[in-house]
Amino acid sequence: MLWPSSFLIATKFSPLTYCNSMTKTQNPEKQVQIVELEAKRAEYHAKDAAALAGKVRVQIIAFTHRAKVAAETLSDLSKKAEAESVAWIKYQAAEALASEKKRKTTEVLGEIKSFTTSGLSKKGAKAVQSQGEDADVYILERKAEAKKLEMEARKASSEAKKAKLEAEDAAAAKASITKHAAVLAKVEADLKIIKAEFEYRKVEAHSRHAQAKAKMAEAKAIMVGDIAEAQAKRLDAKLHQAEAMAKNAEIKALKTTGKANKVLPELQPPVNQSPKKQARYMEKKHLSAKSLLGTVHEIFHAIPDPNGPQKSKLQITLDDCLMSGLAVFSLKYPSLLQFDRDSQEGGCIEHNLKTLYKVNQTPCDTYMRERLDDVDPAYLRPAFKKLFAQFQRGKELEKYVFLDDYYLMSGDGTGLFSSKTIHCDDCCLKCHKDGNNTYYHQMMSAAIVHPDHATVIPFCPEPITNQDGTQKNDCERNASERLYRHIRREHPHLPLIVTEDALGSNGPHIRLLKELDMRFILVVKPDGNKSLFEFLNGVQLQEHTHIDDEFVYKIRFINDVPLNDSHYDLMVNFIELSVYDKNNDLKYHNSWITDICITNYNAYRLCQGGRAKWKIENETFNTLKNQGYHFEHNFGHGFKHLSTVFAFLLFLAFFIDQIQQSACGLFQAALTKMGSKVRLWGRMKAYFTTLFIDSWEQFWQGIAFGIEEGRLIPKIPSRNTS
Ligand SMILES: [Zn+2]
Repeated sequence: MLWPSSFLIATKFSPLTYCNSMTKTQNPEKQVQIVELEAKRAEYHAKDAAALAGKVRVQIIAFTHRAKVAAETLSDLSKKAEAESVAWIKYQAAEALASEKKRKTTEVLGEIKSFTTSGLSKKGAKAVQSQGEDADVYILERKAEAKKLEMEARKASSEAKKAKLEAEDAAAAKASITKHAAVLAKVEADLKIIKAEFEYRKVEAHSRHAQAKAKMAEAKAIMVGDIAEAQAKRLDAKLHQAEAMAKNAEIKALKTTGKANKVLPELQPPVNQSPKKQARYMEKKHLSAKSLLGTVHEIFHAIPDPNGPQKSKLQITLDDCLMSGLAVFSLKYPSLLQFDRDSQEGGCIEHNLKTLYKVNQTPCDTYMRERLDDVDPAYLRPAFKKLFAQFQRGKELEKYVFLDDYYLMSGDGTGLFSSKTIHCDDCCLKCHKDGNNTYYHQMMSAAIVHPDHATVIPFCPEPITNQDGTQKNDCERNASERLYRHIRREHPHLPLIVTEDALGSNGPHIRLLKELDMRFILVVKPDGNKSLFEFLNGVQLQEHTHIDDEFVYKIRFINDVPLNDSHYDLMVNFIELSVYDKNNDLKYHNSWITDICITNYNAYRLCQGGRAKWKIENETFNTLKNQGYHFEHNFGHGFKHLSTVFAFLLFLAFFIDQIQQSACGLFQAALTKMGSKVRLWGRMKAYFTTLFIDSWEQFWQGIAFGIEEGRLIPKIPSRNTS
């Protein structure tokens, strides 16, 4: 609301105060210039506010449309859902009719059957006698009736099926109503906020404009020397300004509480297909569990049996042992013993191991350990390459493209096992001063990662083996060299950017990466790369700031600096990131070196690449890996390769999970339904151990959409009557 300026002048202000405010610049000409400038500024603000109001108006139109669509969808769904109970009744009636027809058919068919063995049935004989019919005619009539009944039964049964689909459809609609109601509520709430913003902006623009006008009048009054008028106009302008600012503050408050135009909710298309049909639509043939496990099985099948072909005929095949091992990790069994106990029960577990994992004969745990201990882990390598190729052919790898043409590869060392007593030929050894030894297994692993994706695509890991107990670091460095050489050999043309922690930012490693034609983003720390940070101390770095909704990213970078004194010819580019939150508190800080030329355009993305660590979710790899620390108790260590073979199988199971999560709609539907990986694994195991499952498609569908409920019927042993 605007107060009349005369009112305020009369009460609060006197010409004296105006003169006092003028004392700083006595020169009226100068004063006029300043006031005119203020007027211009106010006008500029007015235009700005008007432009923003215009923008908001467009949003209002968009959101109104969204709200309309959401309301329509919701009403469609409600109509469908209303019909649900009727649909189920219809289905039940159709089902009852079908079974009645079937029953009658069987009855008549039974009667017909009795004709051939013992002449006419009792009923037939009666009919023939009472109506004077010919027996042959009666038989023909009955046969015709059976045929007719059979046709009717079939028709009724197909009607029942149709009714069931309709009922399921209605049930699905009912289930999605809450979600759509929430969407509608959100859109409506947003619309309210946007409408309010529009009104505020309009007032803001109007007030700013009035402020500008008052300022111009003030300038005029100063020019003609009318101090009282100038003072009045000045005050007027101030009031308009205050109002504009108040409205602006209200808009800000609206935005922080309502977050109106931050996220536009995605509207779901109305459900007009039965969920099962949708699921079939979602499956990607070559990236389904069936196809991926098939690929792995082929590779396993080609592995020569260490026991020789003659002996191997007599026992459980090696691929059965390997696939059983893979099943242990795929089903997330915490120990081999538990798997053994379950699988020895036979029944549906035996069936499921056959249909899902192609295991013809399940080995017991001791036998599995014995056989796998002999397998050279190198034979498992091709499985990783083949799965990777399958993923690439399915056009799924393209999702992971980073910085135009590259793929970001994160490398890391992983501990798998450590013990003071248990050890094998592959174990690393650490001799302690007190005479004790520690045996341990580590792996260098690498995977393609992307800042925007939760899933990772692993390569075959490289075991760190150490026979003579030399220093650990050397070992890790050698293993990572082997790992990267393997990757380059197996994927000669894959454009890669390696991202690693500070351990990799040394001359020899960088030279290796250059030799293998791999780009890099490596962490550098002041204590690990002293001379680099000393060099940077006196140098002016380029600065770049990136802002998103939550944080401010302050980036400093410089191209072409020497890595260190001993590798003065090795030039790298340096980039440093500090992330601040809304309160200007430092939330994250790190620095990297890279061989990619840093510009204002790629600086933020490069930092994201550096931050994309070994992104493996807790529920999948970490749980298993942490349990893997107890390999000696839960899975067995072996004498030769068992520990490494198990680790490879674990990585393969993880790889298959990741591909499915990334590309298989059925898996995704099941995961979404369960809400978390832990629940998904739990449900998988529950179904796997109690139900007969014929295919992976069925398996995921069952989890995603539920299964037909059945009554638990215990198999109580019958009492011995003798
Ligand atoms: Zn070992």
